[in-house]
Amino acid sequence: MMEGSFDEECDYLFKAVLIGDSAVGKSNLLSRFARDEFCLESKPTIGVEFAYRNIRIGDKLIKAQIWDTAGQERFRAITSSYYRGAMGALLVYDTTRRSTFESLRKWLRELREFGSREMVVVLVGNKSDLTHSREVSLEDGQSLAQLEDLSFMETSAKENVNVEDAFLQMINKIYDLTSHKAL
Ligand code: GDP
Repeated sequence: MMEGSFDEECDYLFKAVLIGDSAVGKSNLLSRFARDEFCLESKPTIGVEFAYRNIRIGDKLIKAQIWDTAGQERFRAITSSYYRGAMGALLVYDTTRRSTFESLRKWLRELREFGSREMVVVLVGNKSDLTHSREVSLEDGQSLAQLEDLSFMETSAKENVNVEDAFLQMINKIYDLTSHKAL
């Protein structure tokens, strides 16, 4: 854990979660986003890992706490505590594995069951660098996002394409919702 960044006072603390099938790239996306402020901690009791990053929006300091499943999705062991208090989610699939796209319906159902109604969800098609083994088109991702009213982005955690944008889009939307409420 990096002190300083952790202890700094912040105006808002947001929790967000990463969800999606195994091996779609969730932990790689998170370590990209957390960068030098990377401080992965774990809560072995509920089987999660999380990282923090501080973001400045205007004159406000936001601390984003992002949770990763630490592989628990493999055992279908994600519980309601994972979603509790989460204001946003990155719902990730792998553009080179159709099955991970088909699973999104199940993940959306789970989100609606356990997550709050106002949760900001960004749909993320990861591994966009692997163009030759693509199984899910950009248009497929876009149509699902439109249908489900989600933001959408294709990313490459490997080549660091759009990773920052995907997280920041989610955090900005959460901030918009929260700061409106606070008025
Ligand atoms: P998780 O189980 O969803 O957390 O997935 P991981 O982050 O562990 O990634 C699963 C595998 O996919 C690893 O071998 C990563 O190196 C690889 N991977 C993750 N993101 C990308 C990406 O954007 N492009 C490519 N080519 N490989 C990736």
